[in-house]
Amino acid sequence: MFLTNQDMVELAEWRQQLHRMPELSGAEVETARAVQAFLSSTGADRIVTGIGGHGVAAAYEGAEPGPTVLFRAELDGLPIAEISDIPHRSAIAGRGHMCGHDGHMATLAALARGLGRQRPKRGRAVLLFQPAEEDGSGAAAVTADPKFREIAPDFAFALHNLPGIPLGHTALVDGPVNCASRGMRGTFTGKTAHASMPETGVSPMSAVAGLMPALTALGSGGPIDDTFAMVTVTHARMGEPAFGIAPAHAEVWATLRTLTDARMEALRARAEQLAESAARDSGLVVEIDYHDVFRHCENAPEAVGHLHRALEAEGVPCDRGFPPLRASEDFGRFGDHAPSAMFFLGAGENHPSLHNPDYDFPDHLIGIGARVFMRTLRDLLG
Ligand SMILES: [Zn+2]
Ligand SMILES: [Zn+2]
Repeated sequence: MFLTNQDMVELAEWRQQLHRMPELSGAEVETARAVQAFLSSTGADRIVTGIGGHGVAAAYEGAEPGPTVLFRAELDGLPIAEISDIPHRSAIAGRGHMCGHDGHMATLAALARGLGRQRPKRGRAVLLFQPAEEDGSGAAAVTADPKFREIAPDFAFALHNLPGIPLGHTALVDGPVNCASRGMRGTFTGKTAHASMPETGVSPMSAVAGLMPALTALGSGGPIDDTFAMVTVTHARMGEPAFGIAPAHAEVWATLRTLTDARMEALRARAEQLAESAARDSGLVVEIDYHDVFRHCENAPEAVGHLHRALEAEGVPCDRGFPPLRASEDFGRFGDHAPSAMFFLGAGENHPSLHNPDYDFPDHLIGIGARVFMRTLRDLLG
C-alpha cells in the first residue's frame, strides 16, 4: 500500500466529515470547498474549480510526455433523511450521503495524497470530483464545459460501491454496465366542473387510471439484455383536494429504463403513444416532457483490460460474470471522449442498499479502491 495507517485513519475521518454535510445535486458548495482544500494540501500541480457547476479537478504531472488518465468521483448527496445513529450521521435534516459518494471522494483523496508524494513518471493523472451525478446532469455539464479541455483524458476510470457484493470483492462488466433511463412526465388538461355535474367538464380520471398500468406493462422485466425494458410509475396527482370540483388536471410521472440507448428510443415512442391515445380518448390535451435523462453507460474493452490487470495484480477478487445494473450512472458521458470503464466495489452482501436511509459507505473500501486505481495509473504512466 502506498499510504500509511495514519493516512488511512485521516482519510476515513475526512470521509466521515463529508458524510455529516451532504449537499444536493448542483449545490455542492461546501463539499467542493473541502475537496479543493484537501487537493491543495497534497501539492497538486494544478487545480481547476467550477467545472460543470461545482466540479473540482486536480492534475499531477509526470516529467515526460504521455497520456492523461482521469479518475472520477461524485460530489452530491441525496434528499433522503438518514435514520442511523452513527456518530458521523448527517447533520443536515432530510439529506444524506446514501449513495456513498463521500467514500468515492475519499478514495480519490487517497490517490491525491499518494500522487502528491510521488508523481507519475510520464503523462498526467487527473482526479475529477464531478457535481450532480444523481440527477444525470453533472457529467454532461463537465464534459461540455470549455475547462474540460484542460483535463481532457485519454482514459477515464471510476468505481461505484455496491451492496450485495461481498465486502472488498469487485465486479467488472464488459460492454453496457448501467441502464439508460429517463423520467417521463405526462401533464393532462381537461375542464373542471361542479362535482354534481361532472358531465359538463372533461376529467382526466379515466385516462390516468388506464395509463398507469398500461405504462407498467410496457416493461418486460427479466434478464438485463438488449430487450430489457422497465417502466416504473413514480408519482401521480389529479385535481384539487376538494369534494365540490370534478378535476381538470392530472400528472403521471414514470421512469423508463432499458439496457441500451437504441432500445430506449423504441420504449419512449411506445410510452408517448399510450399517453397520447389516453388523452385523445378522453378529449384531453397532453404535454410530455423529460427529466433526469441518463444514457446507458458502456465499458470500453481497452479500459476494462487495464482495470482487470490492476485488480489481478492487487489480488482483489473480481466477478467477470456480473450482470449490468438496472440503475443508471452518468459516467458513460466520459466514454464519448476516451476509453472508459467503471468497476463495482462490494460494500458487503448484507449491507443496506444504495439510497436506503440507513446506508453508510464502509471506510474499509477506501484503501482497496485507491490501490486498484493507483495500480491502474502506474501501469499506464509509471
Ligand atoms: Zn452513486
Ligand atoms: Zn445514487
